[in-house]
Amino acid sequence: MRFALLGSGSEGNALVVGAGQTCVLMDCGFGLRETERRLARLGLSPGQISGIVVTHEHGDHISGVAKLAKAHKLPVWLTHGTLRQQESAFASDVVVTEISPDSPFSIGDVHVLPYPVPHDSAEPVQFVFGDGARRLAVLTDAGHVTPHIRSVLTGCDALVLECNHDTTMLELGNYPLTLKRRVGGHYGHLNNQQAAALLAAMDCGRLQHLVAAHLSQRNNTPELAVQALSTVLGCSGEWVGVATQTGGVDWRELA
Ligand SMILES: [Zn+2]
Ligand SMILES: [Zn+2]
Repeated sequence: MRFALLGSGSEGNALVVGAGQTCVLMDCGFGLRETERRLARLGLSPGQISGIVVTHEHGDHISGVAKLAKAHKLPVWLTHGTLRQQESAFASDVVVTEISPDSPFSIGDVHVLPYPVPHDSAEPVQFVFGDGARRLAVLTDAGHVTPHIRSVLTGCDALVLECNHDTTMLELGNYPLTLKRRVGGHYGHLNNQQAAALLAAMDCGRLQHLVAAHLSQRNNTPELAVQALSTVLGCSGEWVGVATQTGGVDWRELA
């Protein structure tokens, strides 16, 4: 199994995971041409994608999904709540399957487990992908870590983990107060310390890859995120990957 990120952050997200003969895209917050360009950078054409799973209806995750699905006849999986927020975009020419949080399903060789997260959208989920032997867990866009999130993620082989902001930078920065409260609130985004605390509370014994994701360009730095995660794991900073808005993360293989 392998994975890569096309880009990560408030201006657009997409992740691709491959197992056996199947490649699945998670979210697409980029325009059609930009998505094709970013897939090509990873050696992929849209025709090699088997389908798109969607976490929630925020534009940085869903804005490019319907267009990509229509242009390349790709099926889409999303929750009822997410679909309800985007009904017109998916009303025609897209094969849509409604999923329920916590009910696993498969797309070809990729096993998909959605799980619910606390975030300010209708019915948000995040995903754990597997090939029967290894598990890649993704967690972004969550205001806090629930016991359920911990139990789903523990023991995974690879983890893409939100480090949205540094609390001091958010506090002292120039975001309007309402936005500061939203981002830092219970249904906003994980800060570096919340991400680190999750790692401390879960079994990381099998972890081969750790990628910090969804970093705010104004309220965080890659150095602060890496420092928080590497300190709690007792690993070198170089071992922790950082997904960027423009470059994403290149392919990583799960051995
Ligand atoms: Zn987001
Ligand atoms: Zn969101």
